[in-house]
Amino acid sequence: MKAAALSTFVLASVSLVAAQSQAGAWGQCGGSGWTGATTCVSGYTCSAVNQWYSQCIPGSSVPSTSSTTTTTTITTPTTTATQPGATQGGTDLPYGTLVTGCSKSGTVAITFDDGPYTWTSGLIDSLNAANVSATFFVVGQMYGCIYNYADVIQKAYNSGHQIASHTWSHKDLTGQSASGIQTEISRVEVALKKILGIRPKWLRPPYGGQNSNVLSTMRGLNYKVVTWNLDSEDWNGLSVSASQNKFNSLGADPKIIPLEHDALQSTAQQLGPWIANWAKNKGLKAVTLSECLGESIPGGQYEQVGGATPRDNTWTC
Ligand SMILES: [Zn+2]
Repeated sequence: MKAAALSTFVLASVSLVAAQSQAGAWGQCGGSGWTGATTCVSGYTCSAVNQWYSQCIPGSSVPSTSSTTTTTTITTPTTTATQPGATQGGTDLPYGTLVTGCSKSGTVAITFDDGPYTWTSGLIDSLNAANVSATFFVVGQMYGCIYNYADVIQKAYNSGHQIASHTWSHKDLTGQSASGIQTEISRVEVALKKILGIRPKWLRPPYGGQNSNVLSTMRGLNYKVVTWNLDSEDWNGLSVSASQNKFNSLGADPKIIPLEHDALQSTAQQLGPWIANWAKNKGLKAVTLSECLGESIPGGQYEQVGGATPRDNTWTC
């Protein structure tokens, strides 16, 4: 999922309001055969060229086609001794660790990115009704503004789902300076401190974009990094049934951390609830990211940074 793919897609400048209203519609960009001679605003990229499912999606690059490989890998940092805050106690993984799959047998960590948005609350209801836990990688401002969905984040948190960071504005961190990365991280921290009174310890970099510099910066900022080992490709216009086929073709104990997006209506209302039931029917336990890695709860997930505060005029994006 590298920025190299950028050259094959069209960027242009329209109003941001228009882009946000278009996000989620199909066939809107990237071609001449569809309504989609439309181009995407700055900060948005067309998900595909000459395809009915092309969408303006947030970001400056588009993930490449990925496989359904479900290898479980945990890469721990090689230098932790002198880095402040680089280690944690007990079963909690050290900061700077990169994870792609679950380590605990019989578990699945269902993950949702790019929210909170319109459909997230309903998805939480579905997950709660199925009695499964998931992890939400929230952004500050993308489809919506995080402060306008504070009640949704609180609902997820209070229901036992894990809240983690997906950065403020969904930039590819491999193209950012250390200070640029820090800004993308700290603005989410400020918001989650106000909304929940916690600092998340886990982060998923947008587009899965990470390298040694990003991981080193994350270690210094006290974050553990996770990508995925199964891509539902909901972002890529794959139908719900095609995404389901990826899950149905897995072995008995795949230890997956699948990638989904609660900002997409079909995922929030169909695919997400279906995965929850798929896991149960397969005899797998759908748990939070930290639980599937055997971390302590909530110590592996969060640092307590004071209680949540009432909304005031600083709650703006
Ligand atoms: Zn994302």
